[in-house]
Amino acid sequence: MSAPAELRRGWCPSLLRPMPSGDGLLARIAIPGGIVSAELLRGVASGARRFGNGFVDLTQRGNLQIRGVSEATLPALIDALAGLGLTDPAGETGASRDILASPLAGIDPSAVCDIRPIVAALRERLACDEALRALPAKFCLTVDDGGRLGLDDVRADIRFTALRGSVGPAFAVTLGGAAHDAVACGVCAAADLAEVAAALAHAFLGLRQESEVLPGRMRDLVRRPDAAALLRATLAPIPGTAGVPPALETADLACASERKGDRDGRGPSASIGFHRLDAATGYLGIGATFGRLTADQLDVVAEGVEEVGAEIRLTPWRALLIAGIDAGTATWLRARFARHGLITTARDPRLAVAACPGRPACARSTVATREDALVLAPLARQLACAGIGLHLSGCLKGCARGEATRVILVGREGRYDLVLDGRAGDAPSRAGLSLEAAKAALAQLVSAEAAQAATRPHGRMG
Ligand code: SF4
Repeated sequence: MSAPAELRRGWCPSLLRPMPSGDGLLARIAIPGGIVSAELLRGVASGARRFGNGFVDLTQRGNLQIRGVSEATLPALIDALAGLGLTDPAGETGASRDILASPLAGIDPSAVCDIRPIVAALRERLACDEALRALPAKFCLTVDDGGRLGLDDVRADIRFTALRGSVGPAFAVTLGGAAHDAVACGVCAAADLAEVAAALAHAFLGLRQESEVLPGRMRDLVRRPDAAALLRATLAPIPGTAGVPPALETADLACASERKGDRDGRGPSASIGFHRLDAATGYLGIGATFGRLTADQLDVVAEGVEEVGAEIRLTPWRALLIAGIDAGTATWLRARFARHGLITTARDPRLAVAACPGRPACARSTVATREDALVLAPLARQLACAGIGLHLSGCLKGCARGEATRVILVGREGRYDLVLDGRAGDAPSRAGLSLEAAKAALAQLVSAEAAQAATRPHGRMG
């Protein structure tokens, strides 16, 4: 069951409006605030096993997605999840806004403030505004508490980042992108954040209607100087807001933030493993191969968390954080989770490779990207000490990763084309490689880079 590409584009699957894919329907479960209980995790595992194909994805919006559901099993899945209090905020229309909050909200001593009540107020404000149902399905907002796990690398339509103001916390408002390229809009007080978000969302819809070419997202609109000025003017009537201070003119919140350099907002590797939050406790970040968990793995996590009485947080880097535990407990959980195939260390080779679902999940792929990625992962880790060194893409679209990567293998007619330092759609330097030939090419590259690094004083790869 595979939806045509034009149908899938812009489709945000939800529980009542699941999206067809190569292995059945994808039913996304929105997790408000990204905080999950062990009981809820068990319920999702049971739902995936009984009504799906037993696999659950961690999404880049900090939600869970049950795979392999069918038209016949969907009603029973909806009932089972409703019994756990999990309903679909999107309803039949699929109109629901993703609001991503800092994963350590409320428990991070380095944060500017506890954003949980602010995020709850924002969620409520947007949910009760009927007109905002017209926003594009992928429209997304972030609220960053300015603490340890920043959302700098998460792309959003409207971004709020906490700053220490002279009279208490304030939020920098930026639009259409990640921290480094979003356009500065102004500064608002915490109490006004929900109103500011609603006003900007309405302004986006108004400007969108007037545009000759319908902009899909805020980033398409805000780079037009006239639209940016109108969006900034939206804030003026709201008390407690201000225009763009010079520090924000650079549109780089990583620069504007007084915490630049301390933040770990660098994707999954930075959140995996044990990290202290204070002298006594911290959090353990765990991941799954390509962000996909089995129902059994979810049960293992739920059991472990129940035993130690911790809390589970979801992240936009497709990791789970077990929060509020000490180092000894983390070591015990880590060993237990690793035995069940979960990723518990940032050095795990699986974190060095990005791969789209490929064959058979996606009809556009002629290669089994994820299977092949596991074969190549150790070489990918040698190419990049941290972060991602290899990207396998089933086709030129490059769904798994938009950023440039050291090596990209792009599937074509059952073989791979190899691109260096680019993206999936770039011109390849070699074409038609079998998996074995691709492996040999990677090994050659690793050796060449190692030899080069050895000639540099204190040189290292990655
Ligand atoms: S990149 Fe992968 S998942 Fe995306 S369309 Fe191509 S084959 Fe499918």
